[in-house]
Amino acid sequence: MAGWPIPPGPGIVIYLTLVTIILVRYITIAGVIHYLLWMRDPEKVRAEQLTQRKPTRETVMHEIRLSTLSSFIYAAPGAVLIEMWKQGGTAIYSGPIDGVFGWIYTLFSAGLYLFLHDTYFYWTHRWMHCRAVFSRIHAGHHRSVQPTPWASFSFDPAEALISAWFLPVIALFIPIHVGTVLALLVIMTMNAVFNHAGWEIYPKKWLNGWFGRVLITATHHNLHHTRFSGNYGLYFRFWDRVMGTDHDVP
Ligand SMILES: [Zn+2]
Ligand SMILES: [Zn+2]
Repeated sequence: MAGWPIPPGPGIVIYLTLVTIILVRYITIAGVIHYLLWMRDPEKVRAEQLTQRKPTRETVMHEIRLSTLSSFIYAAPGAVLIEMWKQGGTAIYSGPIDGVFGWIYTLFSAGLYLFLHDTYFYWTHRWMHCRAVFSRIHAGHHRSVQPTPWASFSFDPAEALISAWFLPVIALFIPIHVGTVLALLVIMTMNAVFNHAGWEIYPKKWLNGWFGRVLITATHHNLHHTRFSGNYGLYFRFWDRVMGTDHDVP
């Protein structure tokens, strides 16, 4: 593990450190994006507003409350993973990346992790929209009919429990560089914040090209929140298209 500091301290310290990192990351990124998009003169914002409804204070407070709870839940499998990493019991590796094949694998592993995460998210998300399940597990996220950047982490505790363990378990089996793990965490956070922003930050030209056809953006996920069905994916439109649940982005 040369070159990467191993987090010190007993498990509880690692857990509380992770809770803090997750919370600070959430508050900083959601706060900055919320300010840039919702609190400035709309004329100055270089993005397309997806709704005329300004988020209410009550919605934002609800999103922050659930996101704080989620931070405590997500940190638990993360802390277990770090403990196991210290003992050498995971597939996470560190040190310099070896030549061209090392870099090819690094990119491949990043894509594979995103695809597996997207697949797990799509199917569990679809299941959570079943009538018998929705109110107990997923309704908290959908209280935001028009979400804000603060909704990026707002899940009912049951939903957070269902999703939080997936990537740490995958990291026990599929080799991934610790730098890739950190890069993926940044990508995941930015993706979640932008998809709930209520504003489309990507230019129309991108949305009409391969970028918009392959990737999920705010326009796509906003439709999921306003219609309560369809567009269940997380990063890619792949499963929505294959399963016929993709609402065409206008
Ligand atoms: Zn949903
Ligand atoms: Zn959402």
